[in-house]
Amino acid sequence: MHSTMMDVPMLIPAILERARSLFAGREVVSLLAVPGADGKPAPRAYRTTYGQVADRALRLASALQAAGVQPGERVATLAVNSYRHLEAYLGIPSMGAVLHTINIRLHPDQLCWIISDAQDRVLLIENLFAPLIPLIAARCPSVQKFVVLGPLPPNPDGHRPDGVQDYDEWIMSHQPMSGYPDMQETDAAGMCYTSGTTGNPKAVTYSHRSTWLHSLASAPKDMLNVGQADSVLPIVPMFHVNAWGLPYTCAVFGAKLVFAGMFADGPTLARLMQDERVTIPAGVPTVWLNLLTELDRAREAGTPYDLCVERLVVGGSAAPEALIRAFRTRHGLKMTQAWGMTETHPLGSVSTTPPDVDALSDEGFALSAKQGTAVPLTELEIVGEANEILPHDGRSMGRLLIRGPWVTGSYYGGEGQGSFLSLGGLPWFDTGDIATIDGRGFMHIQDRAKDLIKSGGEWISSVDLENALMGHPAVLQAAVIAIADPKWDERPLAVLVLRPGSASPDHTELSAFLAPRFARWWLPDAYEVVEAIPVGATGKFLKRELREQFRGYVATVREP
Ligand code: AMP
Repeated sequence: MHSTMMDVPMLIPAILERARSLFAGREVVSLLAVPGADGKPAPRAYRTTYGQVADRALRLASALQAAGVQPGERVATLAVNSYRHLEAYLGIPSMGAVLHTINIRLHPDQLCWIISDAQDRVLLIENLFAPLIPLIAARCPSVQKFVVLGPLPPNPDGHRPDGVQDYDEWIMSHQPMSGYPDMQETDAAGMCYTSGTTGNPKAVTYSHRSTWLHSLASAPKDMLNVGQADSVLPIVPMFHVNAWGLPYTCAVFGAKLVFAGMFADGPTLARLMQDERVTIPAGVPTVWLNLLTELDRAREAGTPYDLCVERLVVGGSAAPEALIRAFRTRHGLKMTQAWGMTETHPLGSVSTTPPDVDALSDEGFALSAKQGTAVPLTELEIVGEANEILPHDGRSMGRLLIRGPWVTGSYYGGEGQGSFLSLGGLPWFDTGDIATIDGRGFMHIQDRAKDLIKSGGEWISSVDLENALMGHPAVLQAAVIAIADPKWDERPLAVLVLRPGSASPDHTELSAFLAPRFARWWLPDAYEVVEAIPVGATGKFLKRELREQFRGYVATVREP
């Protein structure tokens, strides 16, 4: 029997309308960069409201329609976290197009590959990155319009290049869109690329429905605990899985949004959290390490910050127990660990202390260092080599699978088929993480099957570095592995076998060899020459063995 319930589609326009009608006066604060006294960019807070953001998002929607953008077309952003980016989050999907957020830290080759793959025709680009416009214009023929967010930098010859527009001027020359085009809740609303283990990045597309469901599931008390009285600071970039969905979650529930723009240093973040009464900041462990250093410094100097943080959300990489303990015991700040992926919107699990465990006990801290239990509507499972389900005993280690309504069922363009499998007739996504699950359902990441290194929350492909290194005349074999790093969590170490008779190239030479092809932060921290790299039965490098061999390794020569 069919239910009597209405079938109301879940659409992003309803998020925009909700923010506009119920939370019009709620603040959105963004740190903008202005020239500082020392010539370096200095932060200045710019204040606006959901009401103004919604009005401008609808003007953006009109401007895109006037530019001929069609439903389903991708509109790209290359931008930092700010109210303008939030306008794009709301305005682009509200006119039926797909918000394609691009990682600002990519090497230009990857950037251009992604823009061309997505066939972006309009690119909203932060003024900071305006120097990239000529390169993108030359190498990405799909882009017809560059819209610059923030004041346009002065052009040496005084004229604005063709196809380049000032965002504020552009949107304000259009009336807010009235009415919304017809859309299905399963239509794509957002698009994000993630690093492939081999080859080019792969994209997933989020739907209007998955965005709504993810927002509803993120907010409850045992999840990220987002409500109207909160002030939320997503330090996680808006190009990274929709800043963990927080801009949408906050707009749905009317939480104040605070954006740090290009700033991620401890002192700026601590001041911002104090000034804007931030209750929920969210970021990767590297960012929290910077904050911890600043909080420690200020306390020792006798000038502690006056913070009202309720929970520091940490994810993107494993949060060390020592970090969680340090925030709680030295500063009284509670850290909540979450796990997720680009493919999962991202929220998959949250580590919330059960009521029968004292959060300040050893058991409590040990649990908070795990990645937590599945978010409602998602399921987690671990499987062995033959896809057999492994016991949830906290010891059996297997490939972590996930399923749920905001977990991708495929990659854009049909890539990466190997990541999807069926168990008992149900579809699952293979995360590439290796985990245990204990009797309470707490998942704990143990390792990574995918050949990637996560440094400061961003991926580095070990395979790409290995292939490039093996192009060096002196290198016979190269295996790049992650070594633990106190600041960046992981950094690449290249382990090399040299061609017989070759002189050993030094660090500077190898880095210079790689530099033209990779972003600077991808370059290995160190190169170690060995007699042989361990290989398995199928001839593949045994990276796990190599990681074991180099456990505790400290690079002596570092990139400046
Ligand atoms: P991304 O798609 O860039 O968000 O990366 C997702 C991957 O980051 C996961 O598959 C994990 O390998 C890693 N990751 C995310 N959150 C955590 C966490 N809390 N602990 C350990 N690893 C994490």
